[in-house]
Amino acid sequence: MVNEKMKTVLRKFGRLAMLPALLMAFPVWAQIELPDWKTVNITTEELGHDVYMLQGFGSNIGAYVGPDGIFLIDDEYAPLSQKIMTALGKRSDQPVRYVVNTHWHRDHRGGNENFANAGAVIVAQKETRRIMALAQKTPEMQSEIGPSAKNLPTITYDRAMTFHFGDEIIELHYVPNVHTSGDTLVIFKNANVIQTGDMYFNGFYPFIDVPFGGSIDNMIAFYDDLYELADAHTKIIPGHGPISNREEVRAYQDMLKIVRTRVALAIARGVDLQNLKAAKPLADLDAEWGDNLITADWLLDMVYADLRKHGLRPASHD
Ligand SMILES: [Zn+2]
Repeated sequence: MVNEKMKTVLRKFGRLAMLPALLMAFPVWAQIELPDWKTVNITTEELGHDVYMLQGFGSNIGAYVGPDGIFLIDDEYAPLSQKIMTALGKRSDQPVRYVVNTHWHRDHRGGNENFANAGAVIVAQKETRRIMALAQKTPEMQSEIGPSAKNLPTITYDRAMTFHFGDEIIELHYVPNVHTSGDTLVIFKNANVIQTGDMYFNGFYPFIDVPFGGSIDNMIAFYDDLYELADAHTKIIPGHGPISNREEVRAYQDMLKIVRTRVALAIARGVDLQNLKAAKPLADLDAEWGDNLITADWLLDMVYADLRKHGLRPASHD
């Protein structure tokens, strides 16, 4: 995915200056075919204590519908904002007051401008806002994010932040360098719901945004923390996929440890990426985990690049 020429450019310019070329080299969204928006329906699943999960196309959305307004986590793509507002309107006549972006990827924050225009305050971890603001200044990215300041979070936090909103307590926690460099974990305390953003996908291989700070070792370690934070009844809203629970997180972690071990072994033996892919090292995992969004080859691209970048030996879990 990142070819030799691009690696040379990366070395030359470093991470910040490289954003436009990097995105051309690492076209996360170009690989995802967008639907005819008219055909997308928004489904709403009740999780208890006035917390819901909404699904249209793109990220899962978490929503707390309180007496004084709606608190939203992630907002999918801009063409779906009106449909999302209509779905929320069936639960409450109150407006959306806050939108949290779990990270900067477009399928999680594409609706920011629309929700801001409707009166919502956009909130994110400060690293996520930094990347979004930087992307706005690069011409190649303006079609991705749009030039309006309304796309950007107006409130940022550093390590953690708590909202006492209606009858719910909503905690935001910064979890660095798992899926990206600016991921937020959200806890709805009363509802016993945790929303992970893309740090966890339920049922299929992960996306690890290595050029923007993601790491498989941090992802594997994060699942220990997530397991501890949850109890047997906690409902987990993943970045993509159906509602989950901590036992599924544990099974997912086991899968990812196997992937890591196999790729690390290949690198240690001097196998190049092309030959690694040709050997189909994830064939036995594909039936369960490889049938959605992220293919085995794509995952191998990411993990190979990650372990080459961060080294083979930081993890104690092998
Ligand atoms: Zn993402």
